[in-house]
Amino acid sequence: MTKTVLLIEDNEQNRYLTTFLLERHGYTVISAPDGMSGIELANHCAPDIILLDIQLPRLDGYAVARALRQLGKLEQVPIIAVTSYAMVGDREKTLTAGCNGYIEKPINPDTFVSEIEQFLRGQRPAHEAS
Ligand code: MN
Repeated sequence: MTKTVLLIEDNEQNRYLTTFLLERHGYTVISAPDGMSGIELANHCAPDIILLDIQLPRLDGYAVARALRQLGKLEQVPIIAVTSYAMVGDREKTLTAGCNGYIEKPINPDTFVSEIEQFLRGQRPAHEAS
């Protein structure tokens, strides 16, 4: 069955590349350019996984992750932070906010989809993600 990825990302080029890579591998991608519409979509579209940019206008990714985790029906849905923050402390912050792991920006087109697949299979616990 086709898996649905919710992508919350304000940068249009990043949205384009991520969507392109995932659709090429058969995923359905729905995307939101900001946190509020991302939360709205998450509530209505039952995504299989959520990719969350941390640097977002207004509501940042940490706040979005916390809000998503308040939605009971998303309890089992992996939330993966996509972040260019190099600091270990910032990564920890994404996990504390409710994310299951993180992927570094800029994304690597050669490994990105297999990273997502590992998260979908639950084979990539947060403490091993990098
Ligand atoms: Mn951003």
